[in-house]
Amino acid sequence: MKLESKVKQTLKKIKLSKKEKIIVALSGGKDSSVVAYLMKKFGYNIDGFHIDLKIGKYSDDCLKAVKELCNSLGIKLHIYDMKKETGAGMCYLRSAVQSKKNLKNCAICGVVKKWILNKEVRKLKADKIATGHHLDDEAQTFLLNILKGSPELSANSGAVSKNSPDKKFIPRIKPLFHVPEKEIKKYSIEKKLPVNYAKCPCAIDSYRIQVRKFMNTLSDKEKENIIKNSEKILKKLNKKVSDVNYCEICGEPSRKKICKKCELMGIANY
Ligand code: SF4
Ligand SMILES: [Zn+2]
Repeated sequence: MKLESKVKQTLKKIKLSKKEKIIVALSGGKDSSVVAYLMKKFGYNIDGFHIDLKIGKYSDDCLKAVKELCNSLGIKLHIYDMKKETGAGMCYLRSAVQSKKNLKNCAICGVVKKWILNKEVRKLKADKIATGHHLDDEAQTFLLNILKGSPELSANSGAVSKNSPDKKFIPRIKPLFHVPEKEIKKYSIEKKLPVNYAKCPCAIDSYRIQVRKFMNTLSDKEKENIIKNSEKILKKLNKKVSDVNYCEICGEPSRKKICKKCELMGIANY
């Protein structure tokens, strides 16, 4: 099946309405750019949202690509400037955490970005957040969770998030859930989308890179099988989706008393 049909089918399966207000989390990379391009093409009501992480030239190039994309698609772009909003760029924040605790770059950055995204998108009164996660990401994460001995960590994954409905939590959708990464790259080149193809200079996670290398030896069919089987395994695990609580420090949705972002900031004394 062609990429466009796969995405159409995924959006139909999750019953996304064209009346809903969707914010596409745009990084400047190929995946989220393809999501915005296609959702606009299919007539969905979208705006773009970009977090400027202030990771030097890489971030400048991402911001430029995102602005160009939104201009060409005629969609509104919301920009969150990390330095202006929090007083520090991602590199500084990360080093502060890492000086106290040995955590991977992406583990810290991922938590902070998710926290910002949910909070800021809620202010925009959007119904859902669309991200650029694709088949390779999803299969990789599922395998990683199995290797860590915690398959239940994947319980909320899917083309639409499975958390219990909550007024403070904005559900996430992944229109590229069934699309392999190489098809996305090919498509973004074909459509000449303004994309920053450079890799994030901070993406250093040797374990994930090893798993990615292994994944690259698999066929698309095998990756799709991982996803299909993950759904079956997770059903058997019968994990109840836990109720959302609110963080005692920031008031944002959290499973524990203190959310992951506040836990990190506590470590960093920030
Ligand atoms: S690759 Fe890692 S460090 Fe870079 S933006 Fe993504 S999550 Fe952050
Ligand atoms: Zn918090």
